Amino acid sequence: MSLLDWDEEVTQAESTSASVTQTKQAMEEAFHQDNADTADTNSGLGEVEMGAARITVDDKQIINCRADLNQLVPFKYRWAWDKYIAACANHWMPNEINMAADVAIWKDPNGLTEDERTIVKRNLGFFATADSLVANNLVLAIYRQITNPECRQYLLRQAFEEALHTHSYQHIIESLGLDETEVFNMYREIPSVSRKAVWALKYTQSLSDPNFTTGTPENDRRLLRDLIAFYVVFEGIFFYVGFTQILSMGRRGKMTGTAEQLQYILRDESMHVNFGIDVINQIKIENPHLWTNEFQQEIIDIIKTGVEYEYQYAIDTMPRGILGMNAAMFKDYLGFIANRRLVQIGLPEQFEGATNPFPWMSEMMDLKKEKNFFETRVIEYQTGGALSWE
Ligand code: FE
Repeated sequence: MSLLDWDEEVTQAESTSASVTQTKQAMEEAFHQDNADTADTNSGLGEVEMGAARITVDDKQIINCRADLNQLVPFKYRWAWDKYIAACANHWMPNEINMAADVAIWKDPNGLTEDERTIVKRNLGFFATADSLVANNLVLAIYRQITNPECRQYLLRQAFEEALHTHSYQHIIESLGLDETEVFNMYREIPSVSRKAVWALKYTQSLSDPNFTTGTPENDRRLLRDLIAFYVVFEGIFFYVGFTQILSMGRRGKMTGTAEQLQYILRDESMHVNFGIDVINQIKIENPHLWTNEFQQEIIDIIKTGVEYEYQYAIDTMPRGILGMNAAMFKDYLGFIANRRLVQIGLPEQFEGATNPFPWMSEMMDLKKEKNFFETRVIEYQTGGALSWE
């Protein structure tokens, strides 16, 4: 029995006219052709087989799963479900954050230095388009390849969070009255911004190719490589210089609403990275043949290139040291983050002796800790609904 039953529709319409029959045949053909074209056993939109053997937990797999993808439970990967629940508990909305102080300081000619204004604009330029890129990659590429319902449940939540992040940047840009065309075109016009986006696109294009399917070691490795580029480098490294710069301004009482928006985004992002790392490690466990020495070296090189690009971005956005930060500190910080990411996916550290010059960043990610940094203080946001301000 097929999931789409064209016969029923025709019967209901009580029509036997030749044109309807022809249309019906054409649609049936198109439907079956579609299925054949994409070998769509992975999508969850394949045929529903009546009376087939029951699906059990053991049939579930992160990639190349042949089992029914519409059966969320029983869970095999409870960590994915737990992250979905935790992400929902962290719900927030960008328009609930008060931007009045930011508007005042931005409009005041003496409110910010030129360097500080550059940091705000460049970061909005990167973030505003980068999070759309993330969302598109997630929905149009990764979702198709991850063949597990509990992971897809988290991906659906993540996709909404990426929408919230783009919403947040739009809200900041609108509040400050920035030139929207200028900001949204930066990833095409400013080299340090576009370099990262172009790099990321290279690793997402194969996934979004409609003819790409996993199932061979070569393609499975391609997926794993792209997942690492996406989650570990793009989500896990490429946002960190900008986050640190803006949050540092917030700590000094500047652009506190923008900083607070980014603090929420950072909390979401750290969960995205953790989820991605769990997915990557689970694929490795289920497909150990993919993790060859040669492939490991390729991954190390990709991560090192990502760190280099992000360091260049730090120099370009902050040619002079300000806000108690300079480019050298970012070199150290990026090495520290990259070492952590490498170890998390089972690879050796590559940045010897790298330390964290911004220990306050880890506190920023944990909103449960008391917030002293901003004028407005957020009450813990664990049940949904509105933020309340003290
Ligand atoms: Fe994200």
